[in-house]
Amino acid sequence: MSGHQKDGEISKRLLEILACPLCKVRVELSEGRLVCGKCGRRYPIREGIPIMLPEEAEMPEAGEGER
Ligand SMILES: [Zn+2]
Repeated sequence: MSGHQKDGEISKRLLEILACPLCKVRVELSEGRLVCGKCGRRYPIREGIPIMLPEEAEMPEAGEGER
């Protein structure tokens, strides 16, 4: 077996099938987390396993990107 992943790392193939469970849109890998481009939630990755649960996700910072 090769290619065991650390926290914050997943395979590109896995990334392609992942989506935010709330928005049903693709997520992006950013700083070891999976970020939903719609709601902004950040889903953690533990030992290569994405935790796609809204209750485990970090909410986006309020006031971020203020204009
Ligand atoms: Zn979302």
